Amino acid sequence: MAAAPDCLFCRIVAGDLPAEVVHTTDRAVAFRDINAQAPTHVLVVPRAHYANAAELAHADPESAAELVRVAAEVATTEGHDDYRLVFNTGEGVGQTVFHAHLHLLAGRSMTWPPG
Ligand code: 5GP
Repeated sequence: MAAAPDCLFCRIVAGDLPAEVVHTTDRAVAFRDINAQAPTHVLVVPRAHYANAAELAHADPESAAELVRVAAEVATTEGHDDYRLVFNTGEGVGQTVFHAHLHLLAGRSMTWPPG
């Protein structure tokens, strides 16, 4: 899907807004979260604009899988065997940016269930 004009992550993908990019592929870009919740907190986003992970998976399952592959690769590169992957989907569970993104969190102990 084409970039959405007012989308923050489309602007990061396009290089119009700065971000600490840690990994890129043809389909995905991984960059550090501006408000890190763990020593490693990276967002992996598709280059194309979809509002959430479910929309991405329906439209382009290979890109949805790519987000997980990239997150695993970044975790390994940063020395983490254990990590948490999160797709917030919907305002009610805390999604604030409506461009699909996978949170990679690692480097500290975590509890379950999440708050
Ligand atoms: P959500 O709450 O939608 O699942 O996650 C959005 C994430 O984007 C949040 O963790 C937030 O800290 C991060 N974020 C918001 N604005 C920016 C930004 O301008 N740059 C970066 N790198 N991360 C951002």
